[in-house]
Amino acid sequence: ASPPTTTTTTTTTSDDMEALWMPFTPNKLFKSSARPRVLARAKGMHYWTTDGRQILDGTAGLWCTNAGHCPDPIVKAIQDQVATLDYCPSFLFGHPKSFEYANRLVSELLVPDTKLNRVFFTMCGSTSVDTAMKISLAYHVARGDGTRYRFIGRERGYHGVGFGGLSVGGILNNRRAYASCMIPGVDHLKSTYHRDRHAYTRGEPEWGGHLAEELDSLVSLHGASTIAAVILEPVPGSTGVLPPPRGYLRRIREICDAHDILLIFDEVITGFGRLGRGTASEYFDVVPDLITCAKGLTNAMIPAGAVFCKGNIYDALMNTTPDDGSPYIELFHGYTYSCHPVAMAAGLATLDYYRDQDLFDRAARISPYFEEGMHSLKGLPNVVDVRNIGLMGAVELEPYPGSPGRRGHELMERCFEDGVMVRQTGDTIALSPPLIVSEGDIDVIVDTISRNLRKLR
Ligand code: PLP
Repeated sequence: ASPPTTTTTTTTTSDDMEALWMPFTPNKLFKSSARPRVLARAKGMHYWTTDGRQILDGTAGLWCTNAGHCPDPIVKAIQDQVATLDYCPSFLFGHPKSFEYANRLVSELLVPDTKLNRVFFTMCGSTSVDTAMKISLAYHVARGDGTRYRFIGRERGYHGVGFGGLSVGGILNNRRAYASCMIPGVDHLKSTYHRDRHAYTRGEPEWGGHLAEELDSLVSLHGASTIAAVILEPVPGSTGVLPPPRGYLRRIREICDAHDILLIFDEVITGFGRLGRGTASEYFDVVPDLITCAKGLTNAMIPAGAVFCKGNIYDALMNTTPDDGSPYIELFHGYTYSCHPVAMAAGLATLDYYRDQDLFDRAARISPYFEEGMHSLKGLPNVVDVRNIGLMGAVELEPYPGSPGRRGHELMERCFEDGVMVRQTGDTIALSPPLIVSEGDIDVIVDTISRNLRKLR
């Protein structure tokens, strides 16, 4: 592939980088690098660096550009919208595209029988998670069940960086500095990942469905009448792609039903075709009460998130409103950028693009090839596990003694130098290519990882 337009190449030096505090990045290491990873352009499956190198995208950016980079129709929809209605207040005013996008998500993305038929737009994954948590609390209060204030998350869960998401998340590093401000009453299920039982599993592990029974123990411990919701990623992504054991999610659903506890699926990564279906809920055939999403919602080309929720939750809040014409706000919540016109236009064009290019089915069709490629890495130096589901995969490496994360970081750096972007999380390399990935692209990604694994100490 050639770059979308020709430009003179530039390089970025450590002086140029001084002012920016880079998110979730080892700033000192990055800024002292001889060849920092600075990207200038993108098209389809590729990025180009500021110094002109072509990089194959093995991670859809950050699990988000599912339709590939800069698809022409989505670019055009964004350009047209920003020139037509740049902004519209989301409180007390509306614009046609937000209603249209909500309707189309309900009728085209979500399965009708699920009754997930209300959409609240947010700005990103973190704000979707906080919104879903607030809706859960408000729902129980509206039903006269306001003692339900607890949330149950899971170890190795990642739910973004708001205080709600941090609290239900289960990543030590992500909480370390903020422990004093975690929201009260949160408890966590154990992670379902057991390497001794699961190593080199393809798809859902057969062992571990019974781990869902731990939720029953937490309900006994805390009392069902104190628990508002359970929040889980159907497949934890950021902590290394951990497919759920067969039957686990269904059993969690049953236990929640038995105790009137809401179930939230955080589908910020798994939504929009990552598993070859619109949602992981559809893939696993388990219906939560709320789904949080972002990323693939707009192909990440404009920041946006959404919460899908069941109609009965919306109705419970609407029923708190007197029908006397008073301007009563049923859910006291919203963002300046909820329903942003440019995000809605991007979302509508993204949904069209997924459909027109048949991208969810395409992802399902190419997943077995991806699986074979991933598992061909078994047996290479320092590889201790390979796992995959849909178009998500991970290769886990043995850490350097006393230096966790270093080997993973070195492999990520080497792959980038060799023209492939992979995602490093600790000593795990995660892959989540755009759904337009070809067999040839998968070969290049896998060969690059393989070649560089052999070169690592
Ligand atoms: N939830 C999940 C499952 C995620 O993977 C992420 C980000 O990767 C988030 C929430 C947070 O999303 P954002 O970074 O858009 O706030």
